[in-house]
Amino acid sequence: MKILAIESSCDETAAAVVEDGRRVLSSVVHTQIAEHRIYGGVVPEIASRRHIEKIDMVVQKALDDAGQTAHTIDAVAVTAGPGLIGALLVGVNFAKGLAFMAEKPLVPVHHIRGHIAANYIASPDLEPPFLCLVASGGHSLIVDVRDYTEFHVLGRSRDDAAGEAFDKAARAMGLGYPGGVALDRLARSGDDRRYPFPRPHVEGAPLDMSFSGVKTSVVNLLHNAAQKGDEVDLPSLCASFERTVCEALRTRLFAAAEQTGARVLSVAGGVSANTRLRAELIEEAARRGLRLCMPPLELTGDNAAMIGAQGYFEFCAGHLAPPSLNAVATLSVERGAPEHFAV
Ligand code: ATP
Ligand code: MG
Ligand code: FE
Repeated sequence: MKILAIESSCDETAAAVVEDGRRVLSSVVHTQIAEHRIYGGVVPEIASRRHIEKIDMVVQKALDDAGQTAHTIDAVAVTAGPGLIGALLVGVNFAKGLAFMAEKPLVPVHHIRGHIAANYIASPDLEPPFLCLVASGGHSLIVDVRDYTEFHVLGRSRDDAAGEAFDKAARAMGLGYPGGVALDRLARSGDDRRYPFPRPHVEGAPLDMSFSGVKTSVVNLLHNAAQKGDEVDLPSLCASFERTVCEALRTRLFAAAEQTGARVLSVAGGVSANTRLRAELIEEAARRGLRLCMPPLELTGDNAAMIGAQGYFEFCAGHLAPPSLNAVATLSVERGAPEHFAV
């Protein structure tokens, strides 16, 4: 079955056609990054307006590239949350209109479930149960994927998400927005032990994480150096920051594997593109004899192919939305059935 998927939760307008949850027939991503860069972050009002301008063209291109029309596909899937509410509503309303016009079923998809489902595209034989480390701009989670539509959160960040910490640290270093990729690149030539950072543990919740402390340490270090006129070794600051964040993510994932006895692990979200994180996870998974699945770089950030993948499994579970489907800004990954999207 072929699903047309639409994603507009943040600053990417994306559409894709995906067959049976695993085969990508087309994938189009229009990113607004350049427009938000001058503000140092995503401006919700601008994001919504750009989605409205681009969504028609992006969806048409995804259909054309796959050799399909709204009438030849079998269902329409759309990210209905979590994300920026105004941005989400553009995709949700477009999908509703298209599904109504072409008389196709409408499938609401949880954005983070979509990030996790990018792994089904990359690893065609991957099936639940498995564990997933989700590290993105707004989420840091250790998720027990019990079935295609059954998720249990084992650990989470108590404050900033990993991607948010990357972006804020990079911004303080003057690396632009979003800074994750630039920080990744600069870190490669640095000494990762030059600047020691605290490694926070949440008392009584060993799988939970905290990233605001290390972010603040970077900001304070830069501030103090500027006041004293000291030079900062930026590549080493990047490497030291990255080592701390990657260690927190890696140790939580493998601790969760020990706790649950899971033999199959995966990663998802924009931060899973990080060079150091990928290398560390590959090494430790091999050392422990565990299987590790990772999406290719182009499926780590926001895209609609991942929404089409998860949309297929939601469809198979009977998760169809009525035309009254709404969008929600905040929603746990454990809740992604149609009734959770405020219908
Ligand atoms: P969410 O999915 O939680 O709603 P989002 O959609 O904004 O948030 P993603 O698109 O999954 O997040 O990921 C974007 C984040 O990934 C940004 O914070 C970005 O800096 C970070 N990122 C991208 N590439 C890298 C990299 N190589 N190293 C570290 N961080 C990276
Ligand atoms: Mg984005
Ligand atoms: Fe995302």
